[in-house]
Amino acid sequence: MASLPSVLPARPAVQDDTTTLDQIHASVGKITSPEITPIYICTVHKCFRLFPNQRNLTAHSKKDHGLDAVDEKNVVTWNTLAPSNTTMNTQS
Ligand SMILES: [Zn+2]
Repeated sequence: MASLPSVLPARPAVQDDTTTLDQIHASVGKITSPEITPIYICTVHKCFRLFPNQRNLTAHSKKDHGLDAVDEKNVVTWNTLAPSNTTMNTQS
């Protein structure tokens, strides 16, 4: 499996002088919002896995990182994190 080097060689940015205005207007893409496209990225130990909702992120954090709750310092998101009261009480 091919992989990128950890450090890529730097080069100057150049202006795009080949794309036409018609091509830009014909391109596929749209503006979205946190409500339409929720994004939650796990940053525990540079994991960087992407999740579409906090519930899946919480399940991942518990399963793969052994964390009982999602800490906002371990998440990159443009959504609002719900209070982390997701600790499951399995004691009886
Ligand atoms: Zn993770």
